[in-house]
Amino acid sequence: MRSIVWFRRDLRLHDQPALAAAATRGPVLGLFVVDPALAASVGPTRGWYLSEALASLAAASGHRLVIRVGDPAAVLVAAAREVGAAAVYATAETTPRGRARDAAVADALVQAGIAWRPISTPYVVDPGTLRQRSGRPYRVFGAYARAWADAAGRVPGPAETPPVTWIAAAGTEPAALRAVVGTRRPAHLAGLPTAPAPARPPAGEGVALEALLDFAGRADGYGATRDQLGRDATSRLSPHLHVGALHPRTVLAALDAAGQAAPEFRRQLVWREFYADVLWHDPHSAWHDLRGTGAPVPDRDGAARERFGRWARGDTGLALVDAGMRQLLTEGWMPNRARLVCASFLVKHLHLDWRWGASWFLWRLVDGDVASNQHGWQWVAGTGTDAAPYHRILNPVRQAERFDPEGDYARRHLPERYGPQAVVAPAMVDLAIERREALARAALARGAP
Ligand SMILES: Cc1cc2nc3c(=O)[nH]c(=O)nc-3n(C[C@H](O)[C@H](O)[C@H](O)COP(=O)(O)OP(=O)(O)OC[C@H]3O[C@@H](n4cnc5c(N)ncnc54)[C@H](O)[C@@H]3O)c2cc1C
Repeated sequence: MRSIVWFRRDLRLHDQPALAAAATRGPVLGLFVVDPALAASVGPTRGWYLSEALASLAAASGHRLVIRVGDPAAVLVAAAREVGAAAVYATAETTPRGRARDAAVADALVQAGIAWRPISTPYVVDPGTLRQRSGRPYRVFGAYARAWADAAGRVPGPAETPPVTWIAAAGTEPAALRAVVGTRRPAHLAGLPTAPAPARPPAGEGVALEALLDFAGRADGYGATRDQLGRDATSRLSPHLHVGALHPRTVLAALDAAGQAAPEFRRQLVWREFYADVLWHDPHSAWHDLRGTGAPVPDRDGAARERFGRWARGDTGLALVDAGMRQLLTEGWMPNRARLVCASFLVKHLHLDWRWGASWFLWRLVDGDVASNQHGWQWVAGTGTDAAPYHRILNPVRQAERFDPEGDYARRHLPERYGPQAVVAPAMVDLAIERREALARAALARGAP
């Protein structure tokens, strides 16, 4: 039987259950569909990174990966007819837009007499499958993590891919994606830099596996160093996990093979699964407060936009915030500690809407991921899964003293502020005053006297 493997967030050949299932049954057309309607709201950095990951997958398939531009349902039905494919295999999508798109595509395929075969997800435990005894979804990380550990123990290890017989067909180049991304930019991002981050990390399954092997050998040291910004000691696997150049099953298997317990690192991977699960159960939470009520009302006037622009450009005068935001501009990536501090500053000291910050992050990050990003932001803003929401206000100066004590991280990303010709930038706000303001607004929102 001939079939199509529709690649999406699974740009790899190893541990790829959808590809393995199709290849076991016969020849495979490997297809990636550039959907201009979806790509328009993808930021240029992620668009470029994705096209680089696609180019790597194309090369790994012996240049048999076929890339076409258009509406996925129409492209898939036409391609299936062209090559005589009886089924379309894909890794199931779990985001709100991905699920809606897959439902529409499944309908179109079935009407055309072509089978739709979603297999596995980009997660170890499929989002939407774990529930509390009461039947309600998990909202607290600790409880979810315990249920996850139980379920993950029953999940099979990495899937073996049998030899693939690729079906040849005409297509376009990965760069076609670059032409259609970033044309629908949210209005509040007007005037901010548009060029893709120049120092993007490398993409593709080959470099992902190398990075994983390198990290797996030192994962036990992760817990002690992960927040030390000058050390740059985290795995940097997030872009690979985001495009699916790696599956987290492969990551866990590599830690086991290297004999690394690395509990703190494994826990971070579970946060990724938790947020995907929260979003699966509550698709609305992509752009709305998960808690629904009780959040302070953010500023949205002209002065708020001005503050937002300074934050996004890395021009706040606070070294750790500015270093993080500059790294986002140049590399399209930031370590978690910097993301926390930058996000907290925007919401708690600048009193701006978490959605503004989240959309700038999504626009600039190579790993921009609707579940981890939106819920990372909601956690910081106190509208999401954090149990102690409004009183957690990170002081960026104290955070820098603690997590960048020698200033190495700041120096790396803000060279103009150090050295003999150093330009000292004053902080754009008084941290103590704005902290009090944030607490007062939070009390008002809760209806406290
Ligand atoms: C405001 C904010 C926005 C974020 N936006 C994103 C995003 O768009 N995409 C994204 O992948 N991560 C996001 N994160 C989570 C986290 O910051 C990144 O996953 C991490 O910094 C990536 O670096 P790493 O691969 O070196 O992580 P490591 O520390 O090596 O962790 C390993 C992996 O665990 C996962 N992980 C780690 N921390 C978290 C976390 N807090 N939440 C969810 N997953 C986690 C990631 O897949 C990561 O690759 C966000 C966090 C915050 C606070």
